[in-house]
Amino acid sequence: MYDLIIIGAGPAGLTAAIYAARSNMRTLILERGIYGGLMQSTDEIENYPSYKMIKGSELSQLMYDQAISLGAEYKYGNVISITEEGNIKKVKTSGGEFEAYSIIIATGANPRKLGVKGEEELSGRGVSYCAVCDGAFFKKKELVVIGGGDSAVEEANFLTKYASKVTVVHRKGTFRAQPILQQRLFDNEKVDVVLNSEVKEIKGENNKVVGVEVYNNQTEETTFLPCDGVFIYVGMNPNTEVFKELPILNEQGYLVTDEAMQTSMKGVFGAGDVRDKFLRQIITATGDGSIAAMRAQHYVEGIKG
Ligand code: FAD
Ligand code: NAP
Repeated sequence: MYDLIIIGAGPAGLTAAIYAARSNMRTLILERGIYGGLMQSTDEIENYPSYKMIKGSELSQLMYDQAISLGAEYKYGNVISITEEGNIKKVKTSGGEFEAYSIIIATGANPRKLGVKGEEELSGRGVSYCAVCDGAFFKKKELVVIGGGDSAVEEANFLTKYASKVTVVHRKGTFRAQPILQQRLFDNEKVDVVLNSEVKEIKGENNKVVGVEVYNNQTEETTFLPCDGVFIYVGMNPNTEVFKELPILNEQGYLVTDEAMQTSMKGVFGAGDVRDKFLRQIITATGDGSIAAMRAQHYVEGIKG
């Protein structure tokens, strides 16, 4: 029996574990992938205070080590449901069931698919959603990056470490990415920008990407842009599929909490990118995690008396 089960070991979950373990809560973290969450697929982080720059993998390791050294338990587990019986919450994974007085859902969000012809078939064969993971396969190759947010703009710059040319295709006339990231993109000689344009199809030959069909929504012309790889950064979907029967999600599938991270189910809290919130960053995920853990501690104290 745990005081707290944290689902997801990204920055939100690991910070919750640090706060909970320091408060002497018997804490279990369940993670279905690698600890660190999305930080593990981020090369350089420049906006986490106190580090001018830190590798995502290094920050993941530091947060994990801190949580474990304070006494949090960590187990592999793909959570498939949560239920409650009185004050006891039951967390079911594909490998077993765990019980706790409280739960923090910190399952984050995953890259959204573009939904065009060729995307699925060529995934892993030139189509990718992770520049840090796959960029090195494209040394001296030509790439297309799709999207206009922080991820697309930042990752396009990163990919020029390997690629000979990167073309960013964005459906609007301006990017929504942070100005500092946009400036770097426009200053980068290896980058071309194609605005007001939508990729309608990813073309392959012999199971490899050979280019994309691009529709200009101003001129209404379609052109073929040859490339060796396509990196898709068109936003994120919350990892809440397994909680969809619970009354805690909004229409987009994001977890709804109050400012103390409490959901509409007592003793079930949310933290990080999985929440409906304004800014999805490592620093806001860690902030959420700390608040959720402290509220969970008060809640569990109330139950135990
Ligand atoms: P995540 O990091 O997504 O972690 C969630 C964890 O939950 C994952 O490990 C996942 O495997 C696990 N999980 C999900 N479902 C289950 C389940 N059912 N059972 C068990 N485990 C589960 N932010 C910055 O501040 N600076 C940056 O430079 C920056 N760069 C970024 C670059 C890219 C390409 C992207 C996509 C994002 C970037 N961000 C950056 C945003 C930042 O990574 C996220 O805001 C942050 O990681 C969110 O943390 P989280 O803990 O909420 O979720
Ligand atoms: P995002 O901010 O939601 O941006 C998604 C982009 O994809 C938008 O430009 C959007 O276009 C475009 N798009 C969406 N659907 C599309 C479609 N069907 N076809 C073509 N384009 C489509 O997502 P993100 O860039 O992945 O960022 C996610 C979160 O992580 C954000 O909170 C971001 O701040 C954070 N992040 C931070 C950093 C950093 O701080 N360095 C780096 C990466 C990510 P429109 O603009 O037209 O809507």
